Amino acid sequence: MSTEIHPTDSKPDPRRSTGELIRLEQVTKRFGDHTVLDHLDFSVDAGKHVTLIGPSGSGKTTILRLLMTLLKPDEGTITVDGEQLFPAPEKQVREVRKKIGMVFQQFNLFPNMTVLKNITEAPVTVLGMSKDAAEERARELLEMVGLTEHIGKHPSQLSGGQQQRVAIARALAMRPQVLLLDEVTSALDPELVAGVLDVLRDIARSTDITMLCVTHEMNFARDISDQVLMFDSGRIIEAGPPEKIFSEPEHDRTREFLSAVL
Ligand code: ADP
Repeated sequence: MSTEIHPTDSKPDPRRSTGELIRLEQVTKRFGDHTVLDHLDFSVDAGKHVTLIGPSGSGKTTILRLLMTLLKPDEGTITVDGEQLFPAPEKQVREVRKKIGMVFQQFNLFPNMTVLKNITEAPVTVLGMSKDAAEERARELLEMVGLTEHIGKHPSQLSGGQQQRVAIARALAMRPQVLLLDEVTSALDPELVAGVLDVLRDIARSTDITMLCVTHEMNFARDISDQVLMFDSGRIIEAGPPEKIFSEPEHDRTREFLSAVL
């Protein structure tokens, strides 16, 4: 199934791409004799927010890990911003990878670094940004995620929700075109979930970043998504705008899944 999403009208940042940003063609991933993704096709246009839903084990996280190049597909091609991410020479992979940021379920902050250093480290070392420019950007991002007063703290001095908001700021500091979000609230205490989702809603509303999001937070998915992809056993069984998928799903499997999680 191909899910075409159309470009938004204006793109203020000329560096940003318009039109199709991500394309997976006939992507298959196996672990041993278990086919986790089965000849998957889909594309995402720049600036769109796409949510991947479906039962545990249906292959959603594997897609994000393929895009992050943490895994390689067994078959198929992956293209980001017109350049192949797989198959491709290592140098090209490194360049294409810079366009993609990811936030994980476990925040994975550097425990021995302050909040500020966590955010500036990669822009300085990977992108070659000056320390001053990286710090200025970090301050802007910390304001965006509501953590300005915690700039000098270490991760262990922060709540899980605050750590996750630092992880979001850290990913955005690399100015990625695509933000991958892998169940970013699943490891949080329930009272900390809303703060993180509010930050993500704000980013979805106020930036032109493309988002691919695996989540079990269906209200959040409904709020931010342009497109929802319903997975089952490594295939997209249904795709559409959130009002369609959540209110009038076509497949019994989607209905069953939604009635279990909503
Ligand atoms: P989801 O995100 O939909 O819960 P995943 O993409 O995490 O699903 O996993 C899909 C399937 O692939 C699961 O059955 C999982 O056990 C399996 N899987 C994922 N990663 C590995 C791995 N590194 N080795 C073996 N099996 C894996």
